[in-house]
Amino acid sequence: MNTRNAPAIVILGAGSLATAQRIQQRYPAATIHGLSGRVEGADSVYDSFGQTLRGLYQEDTPIIALCAAGIVIRSLASLLSDKDVEPPVLAVAEDGSAVVPLLGGLGGVNVMAREIAEALGVAAAITTSGELRFGTCLLNPPQGYALADLEQGKRFVSDLLAGQSVRIEGDAPWLAEAQLPADAGAQRTIHVGCELRPARHDELLIHARSVLVAVDASVPDLAQRVTAALAEANIAQASLACLLASEQQMAEPALHQAAAALGVALRFAPHADNLLGMAGQTLPQARLSEQSGLLIAVAEAPLDVAQVGRARGRLAVIGLGPGAAELMVPAVKAELARAEDVLGYETYVRMAGPFRDDQVLHNTDNREEMQRARHAFELAAQGRSVVVVSSGDPGVFAMAAAVLEALHESSDPAWHRVDLEILPGVSASLATAAQAGAPLGHDFCVMSLSDNLKPWSIIEQRLDLAAQADLVLAFYNPISKARPWQLGRALEIVRQHRDGHTPVVLGRDIGRPGQTLKVVTLAELLPDMVDMRTMVLVGSSTTCVFPRDSGGNWVYTPRWYPADR
Ligand code: SAH
Repeated sequence: MNTRNAPAIVILGAGSLATAQRIQQRYPAATIHGLSGRVEGADSVYDSFGQTLRGLYQEDTPIIALCAAGIVIRSLASLLSDKDVEPPVLAVAEDGSAVVPLLGGLGGVNVMAREIAEALGVAAAITTSGELRFGTCLLNPPQGYALADLEQGKRFVSDLLAGQSVRIEGDAPWLAEAQLPADAGAQRTIHVGCELRPARHDELLIHARSVLVAVDASVPDLAQRVTAALAEANIAQASLACLLASEQQMAEPALHQAAAALGVALRFAPHADNLLGMAGQTLPQARLSEQSGLLIAVAEAPLDVAQVGRARGRLAVIGLGPGAAELMVPAVKAELARAEDVLGYETYVRMAGPFRDDQVLHNTDNREEMQRARHAFELAAQGRSVVVVSSGDPGVFAMAAAVLEALHESSDPAWHRVDLEILPGVSASLATAAQAGAPLGHDFCVMSLSDNLKPWSIIEQRLDLAAQADLVLAFYNPISKARPWQLGRALEIVRQHRDGHTPVVLGRDIGRPGQTLKVVTLAELLPDMVDMRTMVLVGSSTTCVFPRDSGGNWVYTPRWYPADR
């Protein structure tokens, strides 16, 4: 299956939001784009409908526009002669009563139209002749099959539409339901198989992805060797479903590069003495042959790759940003869409949603960080795709360090083979600073005021030195019910070095519903203005404040520093 960008659902007014959200339930990775000033609650806002649509189209993003088909057509008209990209484009009536596939026939637009129509409880307006006549798009075979030659396929379908009959060679179970003009004596054939040969002019050649190649990471130029071995064995490359390697080689970059270059999945089997044994155990029914140091296994039917051996497990430690979906980096959105298991403190897991029914959520108490980290590795070592969720950035007083500590402590090779990645997010100090202006524009110091994991004496010492060094101070975890007096003591220390007029920014629930931003002076600051959902930024001697036209103040710390201070 080709990996597509997640769809964009584009809406013009608040009236379409409910329909957009129903479509988003069907495609949880989809982003709702709302016209700025007209829609609240969209994942992202835009100013120009036409530009937004054209931008998405050129990025090959499937577009679901909740508006008149004509508006969509006019907006994209200038791009339609460019055949390089043609993502699915659909118009959906605002109230969800009609779903019209417009473009992207070969990108599966009709499939999407049916999926959306099903989610909305209506019928899709399919207009493709071949598909209407035969009940299936012959040029877009299902997963597990690949069309050999598109141009030739188009001619073939027009011949059938013009009245030619057809017979099927090979196994094409998805065509059993199709209304094809079948005739055992027909000249035209739909041929399903995996042999390497050009399509005949009267044939629709479809390759079944039924071939696996067992490989070893030590083979040089692996991707080329696989291609050559398939050609020697007279097998079409399009029939290659996956590569198989030993679990011991799970982390070998050469294997992952080869699979990526070939555009197929990489699966793993328990170590065996040789490739023959490994492939034989994994696919007992397949026809096996050695080909220049590789082992080719040809199965009877397309391989369900997810059932072949197992995948390399993945563990991504992600940062959601402060809360608003717009401030979540796209790599994190994509990771959430591919996750099978999601671990984290309940509030953050909820913030990361909505999730599909097949995604397993493991909510845990905020305090059990190491236990959660180990649980994540246990799941990932089984081959699952696991996400550990933090707010802000996962490396800032959050899960990334705990996950690495758990790995460092472990001697389990399966944990060390996991595909571990840390994906950054916008940390609360940066999100708060951006809203206030640029208080972190010069050197600054980031501290957690929590003495849960470190002695209070070290906090006092660092505060004293940082305040003395005239650094802007960013305080995470400034106060909590269990730590009521610490902030007051911290401010006493800071006040020993800093003027009472020093600006202080208090950002509470930044990027979340009900966010507040306050600017006070150090003299005015009282611990009860602050709670555990607040970010405290204490200015340095150069931090400035001036009023903004829209109300409130701008706060910034200039880039320069006076030579004589
Ligand atoms: N990894 C997070 C920080 C976790 S520590 C990050 O990078 O942002 C938790 C502390 O972060 C809270 O006590 C609070 O001080 C701050 N914080 C987290 N999210 C916040 C938000 N949306 N607004 C203000 N402060 C926030």
